[in-house]
Amino acid sequence: MDIRDKLNILGDAAKYDVSCSSSGSKRNSPKGGMGCGHSSGICHTWSADGRCISLLKVLFSNACKYDCAYCVNRRSNDIPRATFTPKELINLTLEFYRRNYIEGLFLSSAVIGNPDYTMELLIKVAKELRLVHHFGGYIHLKAIPGASSRLLFEAGLYADRSSVNIEIPSDKQLQYLAPEKNFASIYRPMNFLAERKLEYKADKSKYSPKFLPAGQSTQMIVGASGETDFQILTLSAGFYKQQQMKRVYFSGYVPINADKRLPVITTKPPLLREHRLYQADWLMRFYKFEYNEILDEKNPFLDPDLDPKVMWALRHPECFPVDLQTADYEMILRVPGIGVRSAQLIVSGRRYSKIRLEHLKKMGVVLKRAKYFIYDSDVPRELHKLYPEMIRPLLIAGKPKNDQLDLFDSMPAALHAPAKAQSSANALPIANN
Ligand code: SF4
Repeated sequence: MDIRDKLNILGDAAKYDVSCSSSGSKRNSPKGGMGCGHSSGICHTWSADGRCISLLKVLFSNACKYDCAYCVNRRSNDIPRATFTPKELINLTLEFYRRNYIEGLFLSSAVIGNPDYTMELLIKVAKELRLVHHFGGYIHLKAIPGASSRLLFEAGLYADRSSVNIEIPSDKQLQYLAPEKNFASIYRPMNFLAERKLEYKADKSKYSPKFLPAGQSTQMIVGASGETDFQILTLSAGFYKQQQMKRVYFSGYVPINADKRLPVITTKPPLLREHRLYQADWLMRFYKFEYNEILDEKNPFLDPDLDPKVMWALRHPECFPVDLQTADYEMILRVPGIGVRSAQLIVSGRRYSKIRLEHLKKMGVVLKRAKYFIYDSDVPRELHKLYPEMIRPLLIAGKPKNDQLDLFDSMPAALHAPAKAQSSANALPIANN
């Protein structure tokens, strides 16, 4: 089989792995070498189905010894199989880099023979790229569950980021769908890499080598088994806290195999659910939300119609309206329609003048959402008398087209008249500017 055929097969086989962003690496180009792992030096592109294809993203082999029900590469599937040699993959990476096609390598693999043998092959590629060809570009190496600690350690010395995919968010379901795997075999490499990374971080000697400078990530398949969003977020929060994961990725299950353990083959990938989980993940990472504030045992699923921040706000009417002149930064961050940057601008700007709606608009606040949750003399008081059940359909309905200048377009008819009366009486900026 020629190299082009191998690339077709193994590039296609890698597309289901979404845990490939390259953020966080600061590897410099070695003297006389090539490539640079600075985050600014990495370009990202996304395929039509939303999967990242920015790096040379390939499997070393798809000839898997395991039989995970949800995977296209499982041994029981009758598909074309291919395996690179380390030399072929090294040459491909270097040639693609020289032609400016890629800025880094994302290398994963099916399990060939046994985990240690597979891991050795992946390390051989990374080691030779770094030590023989002085390649300073970004390298993401998969850690193969079951590989020995010695090999995981070596991988951490050459890779910028490593990932062990948990795939299925419960141990019981994982063992049901992937009989050769269990949580223990996945957590062991994750914990090992997290501990070594902490040790290396604490070592300030300029002579100590870098160990996984861009940290670890993992991926969960959403919708292949019956876990709730609450279970998924609980697991994610644990990964961020205990394993210091840089990212947890969610991949809506794409039915590939007809298997009675899985949803029927005609099931559509749950892309909206995946999207809502990413929004919830964002709230945990950047908006200081705890996972159990977003969901709990009684409310175990995210709302498909509303983003999780709006969902939280509607469940906590006692926290609103928020007075932007006096509220603390953390509370401003929780107002739907206000992002991290606009919350910072509000806190710094209010020291000099009263924050008005016109300022919020310029700061990029989505007033269509925020207006129900902020106290401001420019916002009609009637909006604050609305119950969450009344606000919900207004937010879902969205703003009618061609009426973008009217901030209060979606108020109920009963409230429209007083709002307009107040708007002219108080010379609201939204009405007059
Ligand atoms: S071990 Fe990985 S490649 Fe092999 S069947 Fe399971 S998920 Fe697929």
